[in-house]
Order: sequence, then structure tokens, then C-alpha cells
Amino acid sequence: MRIVVLSIFPQMFPSFFAHGMVRLACERGLLDPEVIDPRAFAPGPHRTTDDRPYGGGSGMVMKPEPLAAALRRARGLAPGAAAILLSAQGLPLTQERAAALSRREALILVCGRYEGVDDRLCGEEIAEEISIGDYVLSGGEVAAMVVIDAVVRLLPGVLGSPTSAAGDSFVDGLLEYPHYTRPAVFEGRAVPEVLKSGDHRRIARWRKEASLWRTLAHRPELLRGRPLDEEERAILRSMQTTLEEILPPEIPREPLPRRKGAIDRRRKPAQRKFSLTDGEAAE
Ligand code: SAM
Repeated sequence: MRIVVLSIFPQMFPSFFAHGMVRLACERGLLDPEVIDPRAFAPGPHRTTDDRPYGGGSGMVMKPEPLAAALRRARGLAPGAAAILLSAQGLPLTQERAAALSRREALILVCGRYEGVDDRLCGEEIAEEISIGDYVLSGGEVAAMVVIDAVVRLLPGVLGSPTSAAGDSFVDGLLEYPHYTRPAVFEGRAVPEVLKSGDHRRIARWRKEASLWRTLAHRPELLRGRPLDEEERAILRSMQTTLEEILPPEIPREPLPRRKGAIDRRRKPAQRKFSLTDGEAAE
């Protein structure tokens, strides 16, 4: 996959591309990264890439000309690639979105700085925006690295086994089960017995239970609306039974019979009409 990054801080990237899975992907010829500095396309001795905002206010805005020229260069290096702006206002990066990006041939990632990029570049020049979360970073570089990391590990041939990523959190809508390695007892805490049993069916069942339990405890919203298979249904039902043993459900109270002549408070109050012009109540 070809990835071209546009950043006025290109020196932040060499170390990132030289470590872990990203380095491995480069070494295996699965990732071909390039970083372009828009400053190289800015005129003047200072190669200025920012300017004051129209309309006033604090902060600076990334000028459109150097970025547009850098984008043209990027398109030459990655023909047909869509340009994506890293932006707090973009579509949230999810595992699903990372998987979709990993199926593309090439990406151009544009890192904003200051208050962001001149908005005239957004739309035609840069058609997509991605956010890595609901908080504001001081620049798009770290966000671009997050996107690259999430995408690259999904490229076929990067992870040791093709199924490695399949059990990861979010892939099937659940959080992953906990992991343990040697020693079997660490500071008095033992690894769950079942994981040492060699019984693959029991291990798979334990992992599914742990995965559901973690999701329920940490991210219950992931379970809402997610289809459940028979096994998942059975596990959740048994959890429900255990919880009900600890905390019996309250017996629903029957509504009391109404006394003759009592005011029916369940009846809706008469609708009042309001005039649209002055907000005064009208008869
Ligand atoms: N004024 C902008 C706003 O309120 O949306 C924030 C600008 S931020 C200080 C500078 C740059 O950091 C942005 O142009 C964007 O490239 C990057 N950035 C900040 N937060 C981000 C996030 N959550 N996800 C992706 N990129 C982000």
C-alpha cells in the first residue's frame, strides 16, 4: 500500500516508520510510505504555510496554496488515491473504517496544524475527513500515525498469522477476552485453570464468556443492537440468571383500583395553544 503523508513536521515520521509492525510492513514491501512537507511548496525565505484568519480571532490557518501544491505532488506519487484530512470534525476512526481503508491501494493523509486548513481545500481537493476521537490534538501527525498503524496491521502478510486480527476487539463487535502468558502464577495470581487444560472447546467457551462479560462491563452499548448467535444468547442468559440470584428482580406492583369520583391524573392536560408571533398564550 502506498501512503503519502502531508505534514509540516516530517521529522516526526522516520522513527514511526522504523518500528514494530509498520517497519515490518515496509521491510516486506507491503507498505511504501512517503512524507511531503508543504513548506517545500511555500514561497519566500520563511516558507510560510499559515496566515491570520479572515474575520479575526486567535490562531492561524494553514494557507491553501502550499497544501494544494503538495497535494498535486502527492497525487503524482499515489495516482488515484483519495486525500483524507485528519480532523477532529471527521468521521470517527473505527475498526470497520480501518478495515475499509486497508482495502484501498493508496492513501494520502493530510495533517492539519494551527486552527486547521483553509476550508476551501475541503470537499473537492480533500474529500474525506477522519477523526481519531472526540478531543482536539495540536496537529494531525499523531492522528495520521494512528490511522496508519490501525490500517497497516490489517494488510495481508503483516501480522504473523492471517487470523491474528480476526479475534481482536471490535472485529466482531465485542471486546477481546483477556490474555495470559508464563509464569502460571505471578505474585500469587494464577492463570485460569481452563487455559492450561488443553481442552480447546472449553477454552473457546471460556474466551467467549470472558469476551461477553468484558463487553457488558466496559462497553455495554456495543451489545445493543448487535445480533447474537445461539451460544452468545445462552451465555448472556446464564449471566442474567446468576445476577438474578444475587439481585432478585423487583415484583412489579399492580396499579391500585381507582376510587369512584377520584380525579384521573393519567388523563392528558388540555392542550394550550400558543401564538407564533408574540409567544403569548392564546385562548
Ligand atoms: N480548530 C480545530 C477544531 O476545533 O476542530 C482544531 C484544530 S487542531 C488544533 C489542529 C489539527 O490537529 C487539525 O487540523 C487536525 O489535523 C488535527 N486534529 C486535532 N484533533 C484531531 C482529532 N481528534 N482527530 C484527527 N485529527 C485531529
